[in-house]
Amino acid sequence: MTGQDGDAGDTGRVGQVLVLNSGSSSIKYRLIDMGAASPADTGKNGGLVERIGEETSVLVHGGVRVERRFADHEEGLQAVLAAFAEYGPPLDGVGAIGHRVVHGGSRFVEPTLIDDEVERAIEELAPLAPLHNPANLKGIRVARRAFPGLPHVAVFDTAFHGTIPPHARTYAVPREWTEKLGVRRYGFHGTSAAYVSRRAAELLGRPYDEVNTIVLHLGNGASATAVRGGRSVDTSMGLTPLAGLVMGTRSGDVDPALPAYLNRVAGMDLPEIDEALNKRSGLLGMSGANDLREVWKLVDSGDENARLAMDVYGYRLRGYIGAYYAALGHVDAIVFTAGVGENDARTRALAVSGLSRLGIEVDPARNAAHSKEPRVVSPDDAEVTVLVVPTDEELEIARQTAARVAGPLA
Ligand code: ADP
Repeated sequence: MTGQDGDAGDTGRVGQVLVLNSGSSSIKYRLIDMGAASPADTGKNGGLVERIGEETSVLVHGGVRVERRFADHEEGLQAVLAAFAEYGPPLDGVGAIGHRVVHGGSRFVEPTLIDDEVERAIEELAPLAPLHNPANLKGIRVARRAFPGLPHVAVFDTAFHGTIPPHARTYAVPREWTEKLGVRRYGFHGTSAAYVSRRAAELLGRPYDEVNTIVLHLGNGASATAVRGGRSVDTSMGLTPLAGLVMGTRSGDVDPALPAYLNRVAGMDLPEIDEALNKRSGLLGMSGANDLREVWKLVDSGDENARLAMDVYGYRLRGYIGAYYAALGHVDAIVFTAGVGENDARTRALAVSGLSRLGIEVDPARNAAHSKEPRVVSPDDAEVTVLVVPTDEELEIARQTAARVAGPLA
């Protein structure tokens, strides 16, 4: 798979793919026509159900908003199907359902046709992703009942990182933890990294398997991924999505002895520490705000804590860029994506400041220009092209689903 057009041609016969992303109380969905020349998000072909199980749930389908109670995912999905029937577009061309699944463990490194055994395996992986896999599975179960005749494909967030070599995925811990307990780096945001790294190669006009990129997926969660010739070779998240970069509410890297220290000196227990590192750390912990826009406002008002928080955020990012530069040996492009990466010029400038000796810099005017389009923000003569590429995980899931159903590509 090297190009969008080629993919659409090969997988177009699958027709439409309905992509489902089920959370613990939500279902996000999008209908994607793989036969279309550019299967874009029109804003009318998808939506979401939120607050499933609460007193009032919400369904937003295209521009339509319905408030009603949906007791469980079954009722939520039925409401989605009813909305397609009432407001369109029609679902009669659907050839496959693509499901986002967060954790595929060591086993699932490809898009996988779902049967009862695969369902069980996803369930067994729940200890690695206790918040996500059970929720993803709920969506799979109700969708398989609603569309029993269609192929259902699981696309795993971890799968793209299945190519990370042993030296980069292995922790220096007792071997039985690795062998018996699944302790290793898995990585996340893989679907996004796959999508934007391929788009980056297209934008450079070069074959995907010849291009080295560093993908910076900066949203609420944030990760850096080193991609060599279309294959992930390292990523900053690890066994869980807590590792690596500073995030909205997650600490990213800390000394692994920190939990033991907090337990010893403050009597905190492990669930309490885990909760604090995941939900009360990162930008929120340091500055009191987790949204970058808020943190920058605080910085501009002279808030010292916010200033320090951004210094830490930027320093960590530059550290990972340097590490992955060393891992790749040669970098063709740095790719910024997700909420912060796509929209926040100041954070992009911070991430690459001081790296001009590595050939990495942004052109201030290009970087500051607002756009929803993929674009180059480095100077024309830059050694490393710095790109902003809006991510599209649903389209990537649809594409991988269609490719899996269509079989091996010619
Ligand atoms: P998620 O990780 O939940 O998918 P997103 O990729 O949507 O998150 O990113 C959400 C974050 O993006 C917000 O918390 C905010 O910090 C940031 N963000 C969104 N829009 C902007 C903007 N215009 N400027 C700066 N930051 C933004």
